[in-house]
Amino acid sequence: MDRPLRVLIVEDSEEDCLLLNDVLARGGYGVTYRRVETAEGVKAALAEGNWDIVISDHRMPQFNSLAALKLCKELASNLPFIVVSGSIGEELAVSAMKAGAHDYIMKDNLARLVPAVTRELREAESRRQRQSAEQALEQWRRRTESILDAAGEGICGLDAQGVINFINPRGAKLVGWEAGELIGKPLHETLHHSREDRTPFLKQDCSLCASLRDGLAHWMDDEVFWRKDGKAVPVEYTCMPIQKDNNIAGAVLTFQDITERKEADNALRESNRRLERSLTELHQTQQQIAEQERLHALGRMAGGVARDFNGTLSKILGFTELILTSPEKLGSPEAVRDHLRMISAAAREGSQVVHRLYEFHRPRRDTEQFKIVDLNTIIERSLLLAEPKWRQEGQTRDTPIEVRREMQPKVLVFADEAELQEVVTNLLSNAVEAMARGGILTVRTSQDENRATLEISDTGEGMTEEVRHRCFEPFFTTKGDCGTGLGLASAYGIIQRHRGEIQVRSEVGKGSTFAIQLPICSGQQKQSSHQGTLAAPKDHPLRVLVVEDEPMVREMEVEYLISDGHVVETAGDGSEGLRKFRASKFDLLLIDRAMPEINGDQLTETIKKINPDMPVILVTGFTERPGNGHGPHRANLILSKPFCHATLRKAVGQVMAAI
Ligand code: ADP
Ligand code: MG
Repeated sequence: MDRPLRVLIVEDSEEDCLLLNDVLARGGYGVTYRRVETAEGVKAALAEGNWDIVISDHRMPQFNSLAALKLCKELASNLPFIVVSGSIGEELAVSAMKAGAHDYIMKDNLARLVPAVTRELREAESRRQRQSAEQALEQWRRRTESILDAAGEGICGLDAQGVINFINPRGAKLVGWEAGELIGKPLHETLHHSREDRTPFLKQDCSLCASLRDGLAHWMDDEVFWRKDGKAVPVEYTCMPIQKDNNIAGAVLTFQDITERKEADNALRESNRRLERSLTELHQTQQQIAEQERLHALGRMAGGVARDFNGTLSKILGFTELILTSPEKLGSPEAVRDHLRMISAAAREGSQVVHRLYEFHRPRRDTEQFKIVDLNTIIERSLLLAEPKWRQEGQTRDTPIEVRREMQPKVLVFADEAELQEVVTNLLSNAVEAMARGGILTVRTSQDENRATLEISDTGEGMTEEVRHRCFEPFFTTKGDCGTGLGLASAYGIIQRHRGEIQVRSEVGKGSTFAIQLPICSGQQKQSSHQGTLAAPKDHPLRVLVVEDEPMVREMEVEYLISDGHVVETAGDGSEGLRKFRASKFDLLLIDRAMPEINGDQLTETIKKINPDMPVILVTGFTERPGNGHGPHRANLILSKPFCHATLRKAVGQVMAAI
């Protein structure tokens, strides 16, 4: 089958044209041709396109082969161009070839035509293929280049010796060089020769160079590259080696300028430092404020003590003076007794204040009378005592208080019953006082595995934030002369000693809730409480030795004991006490704890060594803290000063009942 061939024939002779056509047809080509003989004809034909080859006569009346060739080169450069001429000289043929003709053939040797055409068609085809491959390659190169140009990071190619063979524009810009200037330069010596402090950076220490030795990727984020102008740029880089046939052929380095990040880091560090400084200052200020608050509270407390005692002392002084300055009154025992009663009441009031104040801070005593108590019982008993009072007040004011009970049965704690009762009574009376226009008083008890909870809520006036904050402070009261400000302070101290907690929730106009949490009874505690419970006192005369260095206290103790029918001997210090103890037989010893030379603890200890069963009551002033000696533990009971006759009587009864 004929191979199709589209030929543009540049020829003035129709005859010659037919001849060429004939030769080609015989050579196996199915020829489609057009004959042109002017420049315009060539242009028009080329514009229509799709020619496989151009065959041109050399000399025509208005045209020649060199002009035609020039046009073809301009308009269809890849098209094969063969000159076929009857009269071409050697010189002309050479210049035609130089101008780009692919062959020339003499008209009298047309046998060369078909092989020449076939060859040129093949070569044109391979040129086309090469061209399109080159175009594809160029396209890919441009695309890669534009990606590298657009990359936000510097990208640099290195050969196996660490010499730069490529760098993208961004990379060159970061280090202040033209990309072309860097190609062929060793990277380490050009950009990485010194450290930030300008000391030399040895190649053996350089991670970049290490990549080319160990074939591993290296990443660094705190080094510098040196710009062309001698300035350092902080950089983060990754150097990724390129492996080829098991050898390291080079590496790709990606890097970026981290100036901004470092500045941000420094700014962050600086602001952290500032924050730390402010926190320290804040802490100091807080401490100063706490210290000031403490001093204020102390000042308020001192003021409270002064106010209360002033009141008490005024009464005592007043009545004493009355007796002393009115000799006629001394003649009337009735009047004297009256005044003395007033003095005694005032002194008792003072002692009560001291007692409650002391309750606020005193530590727990080892000998405290703790036993198992049911919180419900304590509440009921306190309500029983308090209720008649407020019922009566409520009736006169027509402002009833309703009591609601939300109590779990048997909420047992290990506690000093009297003290807990004091706490509950204080809370109840505060609640009632807060509900001047009546309201609801709710008492709750509950317990979980560890804690028992007692709550007393009222729907009264509530507390402001400041009052809530300060209500446990000794002498803090909002009730003027009607309040002592000691109820909650002593409640707080008592609950602390029971290893419990007391908290308050309150809202102005809505009411307050005081919640107490106490550890519940464990089995062990239950047992010890039985041992600690004392039986009722017996009532019979005893031989008692009183050892007390303060004459007035000694006299008072003797008076109390004698009036109870006991027989009393006294000693003014520890050694006298010991002597008298050895000399006679006694049923009971009442020993003061704070005495010079031999103190109460030591004396008790000595006596207990001589006779371990000898009952001893140790009398302490509450300014003394329980010592760490053995004395207090050996005494059968500790009695706090000041105490009244009844307290001493009860103590004696308890000790004697226990033996
Ligand atoms: P006092 O009752 O003598 O003022 P407390 O120590 O018992 O002293 O109470 C201190 C202060 O706490 C009271 O003056 C009162 O302002 C406040 N307070 C205590 N309980 C309540 C309560 N249930 N409702 C409102 N305020 C209370
Ligand atoms: Mg009160």
